[in-house]
Amino acid sequence: MKPGDTRDVADTALGPALAVTRAAVVRPDGIAMTFVDYSTDRGGLETSLTYRDLAERSAAVAAGLLENTDPGGRAAILCGHGVDYVAAFLGCLRAGVIGVPLFAPEPFRSADRLLDVIADCTPEIVLTSGKHADAVQELLASPRLSTLPKEVMLVDETTPDARTALPGPPGGDAVAYLQYTSGSTRAPAGVQVTHRNLVAGAAQLAGWVPADESSSLVSWLPFFHDMGLMFSVVLPLASMIPVTCLAPLAFIQQPRRWLELLTTHRATGTMSPNFGLDLCVDRVGPHQRAGIDLSALRTLGNGSEQVRPKTLSRFTEAFQDYGFRHEAHCPGYGLAEATLVVTGHDPGQPPHIGAFDRQELSAGRIRPVNVTDPRAQLIVSSGRPIRQEVRIVHPQTGAETDAVGEIRVRGNNVCAGYWRQPERSAETFGAGNAEEAGWLRTGDLGFLRDGRLYVTGRLRDLIIIDGRNHQPADIEATVEEACPQLRQGRVVAFASEIDDAEHLVVVAELLSPTSTVDVGAIRAAVRASVSERHGVRVHIVALVRKGMVPITSSGKLRRQEARTRFEGGGFERG
Ligand code: ATP
Ligand code: MG
Repeated sequence: MKPGDTRDVADTALGPALAVTRAAVVRPDGIAMTFVDYSTDRGGLETSLTYRDLAERSAAVAAGLLENTDPGGRAAILCGHGVDYVAAFLGCLRAGVIGVPLFAPEPFRSADRLLDVIADCTPEIVLTSGKHADAVQELLASPRLSTLPKEVMLVDETTPDARTALPGPPGGDAVAYLQYTSGSTRAPAGVQVTHRNLVAGAAQLAGWVPADESSSLVSWLPFFHDMGLMFSVVLPLASMIPVTCLAPLAFIQQPRRWLELLTTHRATGTMSPNFGLDLCVDRVGPHQRAGIDLSALRTLGNGSEQVRPKTLSRFTEAFQDYGFRHEAHCPGYGLAEATLVVTGHDPGQPPHIGAFDRQELSAGRIRPVNVTDPRAQLIVSSGRPIRQEVRIVHPQTGAETDAVGEIRVRGNNVCAGYWRQPERSAETFGAGNAEEAGWLRTGDLGFLRDGRLYVTGRLRDLIIIDGRNHQPADIEATVEEACPQLRQGRVVAFASEIDDAEHLVVVAELLSPTSTVDVGAIRAAVRASVSERHGVRVHIVALVRKGMVPITSSGKLRRQEARTRFEGGGFERG
């Protein structure tokens, strides 16, 4: 199989684990993955793994797993962001054990998400490494866990045992792993990704990100997040494209590291949510850009949250003199329930930015206007459906519509349901009636125009005031643009019932302590900008200190949680 040969992946149902086993025979010494560790060496310590290394290490994990559980059992992956993580994930796939991609307990991360997920999926086994063994034991001692795993296995201490026979490839309908959703709108749910879903998802991603023998990928995305797992592990291994990974924290601490690796590895493809691009522009100033060369980059995928037109143009302006081409921007849309990618912009074309009348949009109607029109709301298109069906329907009646509606998706990538949540599964995965069978209700709003998808926001987060709809992301973007004293990505807008009516509330983190800024002036600027652009009054502006706006473990805003905290008196009002 040639690198990037997507047909092979789809036709032979070759998941990443089987692909690695095969690559270990045809190209044993080929470099599959490189990890750059900045935790011990500020310059970055590189470790590379060949296909043979990966095949051996994952076979050892698989054998170890089968000594402690049967195929169909669950193993939570609590490894650090490195080689062990990938060996653990592939080991689960090879053993037919349901992996649950999580992360190692670390002081800088709240243990809540880990505990919630472990309590929900009740794994028989926890996979970790020697370095994190104590922290894992401490975590498992939490009174919040009523069912404990039988075994904690250290992935870095497993050695291949030739006596353990590994099972053949599992059936397509067997669950490969549980992908927990980000928890932006509600408690994270474990999406049951089957082997069939995984293969379909890998082929779709490969169909979007163009690849040939000279391709190379670089990624800082977290492995526990759907986008990170699919882009940094599944795609490169299933398609035999070498990938270089750095830890998300290493990127957040010094965004230049990502740009350096893109340069030194002549990366052709990479991916980041919108905030990562802003981080690069803001934190890698003009004097720090020397030596960066992004001229090999053909695809810079961007998804997981609203893609802002301004972010794309800022990034291009900042890095065009360093080889970056505007047409490398490739916004896409996807979600865990669809084994990641749903739509994607065609690589090689400049991103498509539509201008629509804002007033009309808030009534659900689509009226294109000139970009320069003061009523124009610019929306970055997330591209065309990738090997699956997408339709827009009225969220209540299910009837197809040309207006703004709920995005529904059908394809082999659409999962069967959530782990142990029959009601939520039936509601989301369209088990209700024959007409809706197989159609995933994404809970996202958007519209199709000329075959391209425009995502406007989430149904659950929609702000309805005086009969008009407002998308929180638009209001948040307006506030951030108007008030440089606020932290980017930490401004949250929601509606709250106050005195029997819905009112708009904005909660925002200040960059500097309250005592050093003119809070009155900031509040006034928030109100003026929102009223001018969106024609709605901000009832309350709560300015809070760093870390108060609730976000998910992958950095997304949790607007419903912010509202709950606000209503419970958690933020000072103003
Ligand atoms: P939860 O389902 O637990 O509330 P989540 O929906 O954030 O969390 P994910 O499946 O990781 O969990 O994220 C998918 C969601 O991210 C989509 O449903 C959509 O709301 C948002 N998203 C993804 N891509 C885009 C995009 N291009 N533009 C706007 N939003 C996007
Ligand atoms: Mg979701």
